[in-house]
Amino acid sequence: MPEKLLFEKSVPGRRGVTFPTASLEGFSVDAVLPKKCQRESELTLPEISENELMRHYTRLSYESYGVDTGFYPLGSCTMKYNPKIHEDVARFPGFSEIHPLQPEESVQGALGLLYGLQNMLSEIAGMARVSLQPVAGAQGEMTGMLIARAYHLAQGRQRKHVIIPDSAHGTNPASAHLAGYTIKTVKSNREGIIDLEDLKQVVNQDTAALMLTNPNTLGLFERKIGEVVQVIHDAGALVYLDGANLNALLGLTRPGDMGFDIVHFNLHKTFSTPHGGGGPGAGPVGVVSHLTPYLPSPLIEKKGEHFFMDSNRPQSIGRVHSFYGNFGILLRAYTYIRRLGAEGLSAISRNTIINANYLKKQLEASYEIPMKRPCMHEFILSAKAFRDKGIHAWDIAKRLIDYGYYPPTVNFPLIVPESLMIEAPESEARETLDDFAKVLILIRKEIDESPEKLTQAPTTQKVGRMNEVLAARQLNVRYPA
Ligand SMILES: *Cc1c(COP(=O)(O)O)cnc(C)c1O
Repeated sequence: MPEKLLFEKSVPGRRGVTFPTASLEGFSVDAVLPKKCQRESELTLPEISENELMRHYTRLSYESYGVDTGFYPLGSCTMKYNPKIHEDVARFPGFSEIHPLQPEESVQGALGLLYGLQNMLSEIAGMARVSLQPVAGAQGEMTGMLIARAYHLAQGRQRKHVIIPDSAHGTNPASAHLAGYTIKTVKSNREGIIDLEDLKQVVNQDTAALMLTNPNTLGLFERKIGEVVQVIHDAGALVYLDGANLNALLGLTRPGDMGFDIVHFNLHKTFSTPHGGGGPGAGPVGVVSHLTPYLPSPLIEKKGEHFFMDSNRPQSIGRVHSFYGNFGILLRAYTYIRRLGAEGLSAISRNTIINANYLKKQLEASYEIPMKRPCMHEFILSAKAFRDKGIHAWDIAKRLIDYGYYPPTVNFPLIVPESLMIEAPESEARETLDDFAKVLILIRKEIDESPEKLTQAPTTQKVGRMNEVLAARQLNVRYPA
């Protein structure tokens, strides 16, 4: 039985908490709140007892899948386990009870922490300065594109387009478009990396920037990154790194050393933070020294022993978010980095690369893997060969739910038909990967022997196949409708 809504359980007059009757002598609502601001009818809220409420939410919590209950092979998302110490630190009263409008002198600890995080991220990426303001990878991209725009304008030139590979994440063209640029696509070659010859054809004096993900969304390192950067710089354009895949690079190489001018971080991916369901994130942006004047304002600075917000930055693109960005996420990232240290960070990338290749190897005999060379932190399977059996990538994903796994990303990147994109974060044990591989191999057998098990999946859940587009088309979730 699906859990009923609280509204359906409501019984008029039932209460969870009762308050004593207010006994303010001669108090009148009208005296403090004008009539036009008062409700005309009772608020329709569910009326329910405390234990019913508690059981309702506890039961619902059992029904959701989270990184605390199982493995997320969700390519492109870096869904790693989040150490609980982060949650403890985020709840320290010294952090959780401060207000962003407090005087600077009274929040020196918090500002010091942000200053430290700015510097650690600069070091990790090989950038000169970092702004912590953007609150998502996509917002970091837009910030980066606005910085590119401000830079070109300051040089007295109006550039028109941004070049983006055909394997890119959809947020890349969206961000460049929002910053006022048109998009030019550069092809991937048969190896799955940027086609350098095609890039040379596309780049010209109107190019503002190239947006690149490295390792790219096929899980492959852009081997010719030096030449790619050179081609773009020769045209007076900037090279932007979509840093969503930084989990594969930590302590091994740095975007700044590869020649990138701007990079965003997805702190909620690489530096751990629960981020299912589109929850809060942080997308700091780092730049090389000649772009620092354009970073969002204010930046956190230090003078002597005093930390302060520097808003006197005339060339800045301005604010992209209120206050400091998502402070709680920044706090978690800071804790993560300080706990691991430099050695620990590079161990993350080494282990995630080993995990992904270990899993890929186990699946090679059962599934088509279009890109043969060793992968970085993730890899792609293609289910194209099963199309004539009526099986698609999403059927494999749905069947994985029956076996207790969160499904991998499907049908992205778009350049591989029927793709399943699998990421195996460093926080997963070898046994977890072995079990997952066994299940995928079992499903491969089912495709031949009992394909209906896939097309009918999931059968173990409270709901089966849902209409995946309806929720996006019909936004009214109010009850009663
Ligand atoms: C996740 C991701 C993004 C967008 O980041 P958000 O934080 O979700 O806005 C951009 N590019 C790539 C490659 C990603 O995986």
